[in-house]
Amino acid sequence: MNASLTPGQTKVDQVRLLIDGQWVESKTTEWRDIVNPATQEVLARVPFATAEEVDAAIAAAQRAFKTWKDTPIGARMRIMLRLQALIREHSKRIAVTLSAEQGKTIADAEGDIFRGLEVVEHACSIGTLQMGEFAENVAGGVDTYTLRQPIGVCAGITPFNFPAMIPLWMFPMAIVCGNTFVLKPSEQDPLSTLMLVELAIEAGVPAGVLNVVHGGKQVVDALCTHSDIKAISFVGSTEVGTHVYNLAGQHGKRVQSMMGAKNHAVVLPDANREQTLNALAGAAFGAAGQRCMATSVAVLVGKAREWLPELKALAAKLKVNAGNEPGTDVGPVISKRAKERVLGLIESGIREGAKLELDGRDVKVPGYENGNFIGPTLFSGVTTDMQIYTQEIFGPVLVVVEVDTFDEAIALVNRNPFGNGTGLFTQSGAAARKFQAEIDVGQVGINIPIPVPVPFFSFTGSRGSKLGDLGPYGKQVVQFYTQTKTVTARWFDDDSVNDGVNTTISLR
Ligand code: NAD
Repeated sequence: MNASLTPGQTKVDQVRLLIDGQWVESKTTEWRDIVNPATQEVLARVPFATAEEVDAAIAAAQRAFKTWKDTPIGARMRIMLRLQALIREHSKRIAVTLSAEQGKTIADAEGDIFRGLEVVEHACSIGTLQMGEFAENVAGGVDTYTLRQPIGVCAGITPFNFPAMIPLWMFPMAIVCGNTFVLKPSEQDPLSTLMLVELAIEAGVPAGVLNVVHGGKQVVDALCTHSDIKAISFVGSTEVGTHVYNLAGQHGKRVQSMMGAKNHAVVLPDANREQTLNALAGAAFGAAGQRCMATSVAVLVGKAREWLPELKALAAKLKVNAGNEPGTDVGPVISKRAKERVLGLIESGIREGAKLELDGRDVKVPGYENGNFIGPTLFSGVTTDMQIYTQEIFGPVLVVVEVDTFDEAIALVNRNPFGNGTGLFTQSGAAARKFQAEIDVGQVGINIPIPVPVPFFSFTGSRGSKLGDLGPYGKQVVQFYTQTKTVTARWFDDDSVNDGVNTTISLR
């Protein structure tokens, strides 16, 4: 990849900030390399913006809000229509950069972009989504109606694992509702995010309506505490998400924190065996297990325990290679640090007595000897006190827990500290209905391994996977990015009867 061709960069491959419609070079002294996880090639350098630069981005957004909030809905919508066409047109080009900086396969990178594109498509129908309500004659000659108005400057903080989809969960819906936005992409792989931002500018998003700052904790904390920011959308780990939720909440902001996961797939013995095993292997090891919706625990119920050897055989067949190589199933994890963390957790599993059925630690990838690769790894005999069960591993590691009954499986899932996604594999409608009623998890798949909702629904979560009550897209996000004003109105005809002074609270 020629990183120098990536938008938002200078000739020396320094990623820029977007402030008030201008791509500007940061004056910071703190930079971080953006590294291809398959090769360790440095693709570019990202600045950790200074406090003044963050302030300048927020000030630009605050100024732009004054006119953007009054821009007609149709005009905002048409920008989204152009953006969706541009994303479609450039999707393959962006996928190459995304794969290079993040490590996922080209096909999966295209999927990452597509799932975000769907949100942009949904933003094109904001005309009906942002409508208020009207009730006629709530009292004599009195009508009540609601307006859904934008709230001001909003900010989004995104993780490394979906550099296209998750920024697209945020800024299109925020902007199309009439807000202005400051985006803080992951410092590990911001290049593809910036390509999407550049397309948004090309589509007609005016100067200051969308701004980008880069950085880590300092920049995030500055966004969470700035008095001109009205709402924060965060997606990332539970630890950081809880910090962001608390800090921004203490500073009076609306906050939604979409956080970490430990997703259980419950397998009943009546399930379609082949389909289920394929689904498990794909959802556990695809994207090197770095999806918030990856299946990380397989709960084999009763006789489904006997399927373990087949699951192992399927996992062993998956091809580990760089994301841009044809036929790759499992790419590298994002960084050397991430790899060390995953290896440490695998070692803890062995130490704590789980059975290592398939060991991906020593995988060799010819031509990519320096890549952060870990092969599919499978543990059986896992108990709920082991670190490989209690922690989000975020690597290609599947842990298998065995239980005797369906009720035990449901109780197990509900006891886990995370509640992001879960799946049930069965041929029984009654079992599926019981599962959807009793399970305390945000996304539930019935014979679907990664049930990420389409954009006219909303992504959600419970317990340690989500804080804040509204989701990051769908109708819920329109509520998140707008405030409701209720107007109660009476108009007098010239010949209206004079009611005299009313000293009660009643409307007459
Ligand atoms: P992360 O929490 O390390 O980083 C997320 C964002 O927070 C980044 O922009 C980062 O710069 C910033 N950040 C990092 N440390 C910070 C700190 N100390 N204070 C303030 N901000 C900080 O997450 P990640 O490793 O980039 O992403 C993986 C995590 O995201 C996993 O836990 C995954 O489950 C989760 N995730 C959740 C969802 C969801 O919808 N629930 C979706 C995708 C990813």
